[in-house]
Amino acid sequence: MKYVYFFGDGKADGKADDKNMLGGKGANLAEMTSLKIPVPPGFTLTTNLCMDYLNDGVYPDELENEVQNAIEKVESIMDQKFGDPENPLLVSIRSGARQSMPGMMETVLNVGLTDKTIPGLIKKTDNPRFVYDAYRRLITMYSDVVMEKSEGVDPEPGQGIREQLEEIMDHMKRERGVIDDTELSADDLKELCSQFKKKVNETLGSEFPDDPSLQLWGGISAVFKSWSGKRAVNYRRIENIPNEWGTAVNVQTMVFGNMGENSATGVAFTRNPATGENVFYGEWLINAQGEDVVAGIRTPYPLNSSTKTAETNELPGLDQSMPEVYNQLDSIRLKLENHYRDMQDIEFTIQNGKLWMLQTRVGKRNGGAAIRIACEMQSENLISSDEAILRVSPDQLDEIMHSMVDPSSEKEAELLAKGLPAGPGGGVGQVVFSADTAEEWAKKGLDVILVRNETSPEDVHGMHAAKAILTAKGGMTSHAALVARGWGKCCIVGCSILQINYTDNQMLINDEIIKEGDWLTLNGSTGKVYKGQLSLIEPDLSSNKYYGILMEMTNSVKRLGIRANAESPNDAKQAREFGAKGIGLCRTEHMFFDPERILAVREMIIATEVSKRREAIMKLLPFQREDFKGILEAMSPYPVTIRLLDPPLHEFMTLNDEQKNELAKELSISLDALENRIRGLEELNPMLGHRGCRLGIAYPEITEMQSRAIFEATAELIKENVEVAPEVMIPLVGTYKEYEHQEALVRKIAEEVRSESGENFSYLVGTMIELPRAALTANEIADKAEFFSFGTNDLTQTTYGFSRDDIGGFLPEYLERGILEHDPFQSLDQTGVGQLVQMGVEKGREVRSDLKIGICGEHGGDPESISFCNRIGLDYVSCSPFRVPIARLSAAQAELK
Ligand code: PEP
Ligand code: MG
Repeated sequence: MKYVYFFGDGKADGKADDKNMLGGKGANLAEMTSLKIPVPPGFTLTTNLCMDYLNDGVYPDELENEVQNAIEKVESIMDQKFGDPENPLLVSIRSGARQSMPGMMETVLNVGLTDKTIPGLIKKTDNPRFVYDAYRRLITMYSDVVMEKSEGVDPEPGQGIREQLEEIMDHMKRERGVIDDTELSADDLKELCSQFKKKVNETLGSEFPDDPSLQLWGGISAVFKSWSGKRAVNYRRIENIPNEWGTAVNVQTMVFGNMGENSATGVAFTRNPATGENVFYGEWLINAQGEDVVAGIRTPYPLNSSTKTAETNELPGLDQSMPEVYNQLDSIRLKLENHYRDMQDIEFTIQNGKLWMLQTRVGKRNGGAAIRIACEMQSENLISSDEAILRVSPDQLDEIMHSMVDPSSEKEAELLAKGLPAGPGGGVGQVVFSADTAEEWAKKGLDVILVRNETSPEDVHGMHAAKAILTAKGGMTSHAALVARGWGKCCIVGCSILQINYTDNQMLINDEIIKEGDWLTLNGSTGKVYKGQLSLIEPDLSSNKYYGILMEMTNSVKRLGIRANAESPNDAKQAREFGAKGIGLCRTEHMFFDPERILAVREMIIATEVSKRREAIMKLLPFQREDFKGILEAMSPYPVTIRLLDPPLHEFMTLNDEQKNELAKELSISLDALENRIRGLEELNPMLGHRGCRLGIAYPEITEMQSRAIFEATAELIKENVEVAPEVMIPLVGTYKEYEHQEALVRKIAEEVRSESGENFSYLVGTMIELPRAALTANEIADKAEFFSFGTNDLTQTTYGFSRDDIGGFLPEYLERGILEHDPFQSLDQTGVGQLVQMGVEKGREVRSDLKIGICGEHGGDPESISFCNRIGLDYVSCSPFRVPIARLSAAQAELK
């Protein structure tokens, strides 16, 4: 097996498609090399090797040779030699998994610097300051990554070797009376290096290795091991990245952005990742190394005029400072976009005026940007409309439907500070200053804003738990910005006015002290930080041109119809605006709770005589008729599925003593009689008790009243020339006889209303399939039923035997132990419950080939479940109005996948 893949000088062993083996970074370095883009030569050690090494603890015998051969190739391209005293080659060692895990694993730079090679490099560069600066960085990284972390040394907080070395450096800066690292002289840095080495030996009990080969193998092993580090493991858990993927390791010739004023380093996106606008967008720093930009230690310059803001307008763009290099970079930008046909996130270094590309990968973007980029790339003919649809994830679409800070409340609010708008949208929460507290508070159900000087990969769990993130340092490409954008989270970075005091858990903003627990509101779209809790508003999709274009594209692809679950004309209108073509579930019981009606409902329930019950229930007829009229009209001409009363009646009878007294009085019965009746309604398992069609069978008046209301509304609307399509749905059917009984009643009333009104309206009668027996006998039911709607909430409940109300008691444990992969009430269990659904579809269509079939359980808005529904041939899915756009996109993607 081949473990080492070389790239350099226009030739590469690997290619972009080899991501699984070479990781994203390695595969793209190979691809860029083959595209004749200037990439420092190097080689990639495969992800398979990583897993073998982590499992066995040793490398295969042939590896040493393969590495040696690759190094020799690099040496010959660079005309340098690894470990050579005159002309030494230095390399970087970086991780690179299949999927980007920003900052979660380790890196060692400047490998190859030793007592022997230092003089040679000084002679060659004529820059001792640069060489000792590189050396002190190597000692810091190597001792931290290789000698401490990968050896499993677990220092006290604040006592890690990196912190100890930084403290030595800070001490020297204080002694010299300087502020910036760059103000230390070559001699200072030389002295610092020897102090560093002494400290490393004292603290970690062994010498910093003065042998290039030891450094190389130590670095490679440590980067492999960092796949199993705490941060990486945490991140994988959150992002659902499998542990067995492993990381590749890239060993690559060092190029330096910190060789002087003609050197620089930067990161950029081929389009703006926050808005999606087609402009080159990035940040750079003169005389700096890449880590300085990403770590947010120095505030970077804007790449060009399209990156400048009012705050950064005065800072130099790369286009002004180094126009030739900028033009070359800009043409690489176009080359990469045309080649990869997607927005790229790139890293570059300029060494003595020569441009080197260090990385390209598909750039993370927020939801709004993803939609705009997909639509614009489609109109630029870079991608097809099918690809454009697949480029936007349901989660990204969800993001643009999220709340924003209400501008009117913003006007009144106290503006505390302003930073860089790294992740758009609004966030309101209580301030915490540590990731652990953020996680802890969020677990208690509190909304928190995580405030840090800068974030590091160690903070991801807290960043994930927080509603929003605020940092004092860093730019738009800092760790906080990248991670937050990937999650579509509100985030403000580089808010330099914050003076955070971690010891006292508070911060100073101008004269204002903000303590842990205080409320802040962030506007991540403008970078503004406000005191207190401002109101948030829902986004206006109608003004988002790209959202409209994307949705239009989905229409020509998707096969599934999309309906909404709605029970009021307003909800129906909202659902229509989102693109629903019909209502798949109108739960009528919600209408019974209206204060004007509940008395009649209770009267009906209390009544023991049929005539009294009928009298009470008929009081509801005019209300229900108006309800149905409103909904049918709001959805005209699309179908509206109205479900007959479903819940157990005791749900309407939860009364306190005062309410009982009042009700007894109003119904002119004794309190005793009332309480007796209420007790009589109590059930041990109400979910499996007297509910669903069992109600309409015991109390046919209920079915009659509701059917009459539906058909009278229909007849009236038809008279008014409104086109309507009512579908009457019978709930919780388990046997065809139950269905037959209720259907006969519904049809009888329909006939009555037809003859009374003289309107010959059409309608459908069908049933929910939400019990296993209904699915098993679907052929019998379909003999009469004109449609099925899968009620997968109850079907999941009755198939698993998990109470939908009580699953919370054990679900976390089940998920934690991997007994369940996900909550089956959120995403359909395709292997179990799904089999019943599929069987229901097949058996139903055996006897009625044109049987209309949909789903109206919560799963109707879940992308994975929608894909399943598409596959097994459902006609439509129905979900809450706000999930309709996601359902449209998911339905189109299901067709394309
Ligand atoms: C269902 O059971 O899936 C359903 C839609 O009905 P409800 O949630 O009202 O029981
Ligand atoms: Mg149900």
